[in-house]
Amino acid sequence: MTTQWNHYINGDFVAPSSGEFIHEFVPMTGLQGDQIARGSAADVDQAANSAAAVQPAWNARKPIERGRILLAIARLIRTNAAAFCAKEAEETGKPVKMAAFEIEACAQYFEYYGGLATAIQGETINLGPNYHAYTTREPFGVVGVILPWNSPLNQAGRAIAPALVSGNTVVVKPSEFTSITMLQLAEMAVKEAGLPAGVLNVITGTGKETGEPLVKHPLIRKVAFTGSVRAGKEIGKLAADRIIPLSLELGGKSPNIVFEDADLDRAVAGSVFAFTVNTGQVCLAGTRCLVHESIYQKFAKKLASAVEALQFSDGENFGLGPLTTKAQYEQVHAYTKLAIQEGAEQLVGGDVPSDKAGWYVRPTVFTNVNNSMRIAREEIFGPVLVLMPFKDEQEAVAIANDSEYGLAAGLWTSDLARAHRVAAQIEAGQVYVNEYPSGGVETPFGGFKQSGYGREKGLEALHHYTQTKTTIIRI
Ligand code: NAD
Repeated sequence: MTTQWNHYINGDFVAPSSGEFIHEFVPMTGLQGDQIARGSAADVDQAANSAAAVQPAWNARKPIERGRILLAIARLIRTNAAAFCAKEAEETGKPVKMAAFEIEACAQYFEYYGGLATAIQGETINLGPNYHAYTTREPFGVVGVILPWNSPLNQAGRAIAPALVSGNTVVVKPSEFTSITMLQLAEMAVKEAGLPAGVLNVITGTGKETGEPLVKHPLIRKVAFTGSVRAGKEIGKLAADRIIPLSLELGGKSPNIVFEDADLDRAVAGSVFAFTVNTGQVCLAGTRCLVHESIYQKFAKKLASAVEALQFSDGENFGLGPLTTKAQYEQVHAYTKLAIQEGAEQLVGGDVPSDKAGWYVRPTVFTNVNNSMRIAREEIFGPVLVLMPFKDEQEAVAIANDSEYGLAAGLWTSDLARAHRVAAQIEAGQVYVNEYPSGGVETPFGGFKQSGYGREKGLEALHHYTQTKTTIIRI
């Protein structure tokens, strides 16, 4: 039995104006799952109008009251975590225990930004005794949030919580592959946490039919996009046409550098996690592993054993899940084939597990790779790693920075001076030392170069969901 899910607009489930629905799929089996509403420009219009109608009243609330509602949402996410985890696991294919980490992160975004509600402040500027000048941080109005499928509620919380706490209202378009937990969260926020109807609306559907009308809608005053470079460019053009601010959280091909003075066992375990977590479907995945030539052979041997020892999850416990979409599964296979054509050698992985019905792949590591090959330059978004030696710090930095992307980088070293020296030279929005990934809801996150612009997380995100007004009074 599959369920049909409508949009969530103005505190109610609303049928799509087209009357049409789209099937999601269950990655563990490859079979059809629940259906979601196929959103159109008319549905987006209804949601944007609802969000705009209640925005002035939401913004007029005392910040401490907005914060209290966000804290209630955080509490309820935790109370209902088991249900959210089960649905998120069904939609994405990730093990339930892994989904639990992400649902907890979502709760933490509401908790963190709820707690910061009263800390959104301006400043006074001294222009001499005849003036009083000050700044205020004001919301944009209605924010459009467009999300991918790899960590649905985690990324939703990351964008929605700072947008709401700053006095904006929101229309979200989750990925057409993983929309349902977002609908459940919005309903819970309104029905149980006290969020006024219309402050958070969810429109489901495809990028072209639903996402584009959202970016183009005149009532949408800022867009927060997380997804591919391809879609980011399309959205960037639409946003440029309307001169609305945009934050782009895009992809990566992140370097993970292992120096000869690293704790080898920790570096191996961390490097495996860096490219296999969430079956490699993570924007910040460390997919280019650069290893000092003096430890390269030893590292490769240990890495191969560690990758071979990885187990598939039973759906509940930790382990590898399937890829979330069929297209992603096909893409990973196309890249592993391309790697061989380009002359790379497969150290481990490659074959398909024969006893699995869903979109499972084995983590695969390639050697004999140079940084100009496509498998070293393009984001694969699956558990595929290229291993490359380097001779000194300078060469490691040069290879690391020789990429169109700049989302994250890892360093493994026991030399603190080296850690700081290399971190300073890396072109990436995040540098992790001796852990990959690292950080929390408090640490700003975003990309250099083609990995995007703007920042989510931390205090910094609040600057992206507010605009500064300066008032100057002649006394
Ligand atoms: P995608 O770009 O295909 O889709 C993302 C979202 O954008 C979906 O909701 C989709 O429907 C919508 N969309 C697509 N085209 C659109 C258009 N023209 N106008 C408006 N909306 C449009 O990405 P995906 O396959 O869902 O996700 C994988 C990508 O996301 C990877 O590249 C990954 O690196 C990136 N990602 C980045 C981060 C980050 O924080 N930097 C986090 C997770 C994923």
